[in-house]
Amino acid sequence: MKSEKLFELASRYMPGGVSSPVRAYKPYPFFTGHAKGSKIYDVDGREYIDYCLAYGPLVLGHGNEEVKTAVREQLEEGWLYGTPHEKEIELAKKIIAHYPSVEMLRFVNTGSEATMAGIRLARGFKERDKIVKIEGGFHGAHDGVLVKAGSGATTFGIPDSKGIPKDSVKNTLQIPFNDAPALADMLEKNSGEVAAVIIEPVMGNVGPIPPQDNYLSAVREITQENDVLLILDEVITGFRLALGGAQEFYGIDADLTILGKIVGGGFPIGVFGGRRELMELVSPSGAVYQAGTFSGNPVSVTAGLKTIEVLERERVPQRINKLGEIMRAALNEIMSDSGVGGYVSGVGSMFKVFFSPSGKAVKNYADALECDKNKYMALFHKMLDSGVFLPPSQFETNFISFAHTDEDIRRTIEAYEENLGCT
Ligand SMILES: *Cc1c(COP(=O)(O)O)cnc(C)c1O
Repeated sequence: MKSEKLFELASRYMPGGVSSPVRAYKPYPFFTGHAKGSKIYDVDGREYIDYCLAYGPLVLGHGNEEVKTAVREQLEEGWLYGTPHEKEIELAKKIIAHYPSVEMLRFVNTGSEATMAGIRLARGFKERDKIVKIEGGFHGAHDGVLVKAGSGATTFGIPDSKGIPKDSVKNTLQIPFNDAPALADMLEKNSGEVAAVIIEPVMGNVGPIPPQDNYLSAVREITQENDVLLILDEVITGFRLALGGAQEFYGIDADLTILGKIVGGGFPIGVFGGRRELMELVSPSGAVYQAGTFSGNPVSVTAGLKTIEVLERERVPQRINKLGEIMRAALNEIMSDSGVGGYVSGVGSMFKVFFSPSGKAVKNYADALECDKNKYMALFHKMLDSGVFLPPSQFETNFISFAHTDEDIRRTIEAYEENLGCT
């Protein structure tokens, strides 16, 4: 096995042999040789239908030809200027057209950077220090939000990282998802001290957990009543649930919107944006400092622009959401026929089998933590043997891309059927 040997080598030079924690799993992760469309190929020549999709950005699948051509053309013009360029305006206009709550925005390089700057801006605007986040919510790997954080932090049982000064998180308050009264209580108790609530509209980093009916509109109302900003972290949901993200899908708005992943078309990007009066506080027009060498780089911007163009033209969210429905319906049937205890969660093109006790519904972080991680990893390995690559954690979301064919979906359902033990 080439992958096994490479992992041994990688582990000598990089902690855990990987560049980001969730990529590591036992006994060793496969190393990728190449990827195209809905498929990813390991260095040993095996093909997998990919539902990990680099954890979200690849809404068009791997190696989309239109994006590739656009990026190639851009490379001919140079790949980093350190000056403004015209495509930034085009991408900004596109984003603003789909997100009515966004009037101005700033490009950064990652989702982490965008939430960090968004939180700083909210604090600067309100001149208050506290923020409220959701237990299990993941907003990147920076100090202020690495408390009860999802993603790799949950997978590896270190939701509260070492090395973070107590002072950096003392202003981060936590509440459970899908519990509007808990938010109202928290804001009342900390009246006049909270700058913002930051929330993933669909929890995406403890597995997908959709908001219950009216939860998000209640969050919007409660933040407004308490004069607190609402930061919607749409790094996953943006341009996926709908072109206008969760804001369009659920009919809500935000004071600040965070985007990432899809908006860079598979290249590094992050975006924070909102009302003009807020955004004008960002340097150099205002006193909230934010900067970055690679920000707005023409390659990411070009890939993002082309990706959004394809999303619009092909009505991609409709297509992938439909496939998501088919997948969840089939999985529900398989789960009930097989008698495997568990719960099928998700919305739109996101889905997950949770091994929850007695098939209990998973509606927040505490529920997710009750799920059987070992059972999930057993399923993960069986699916891999069947040629299907799911994210290697109970707490990560399965994504469907525009490159996934009806045949891919059929084969995947068959693999689940076999591996959940009802054939
Ligand atoms: C992935 C993710 C981030 C962090 O984005 P990076 O580009 O990995 O820094 C932030 N918020 C959410 C909801 C995410 O899923």
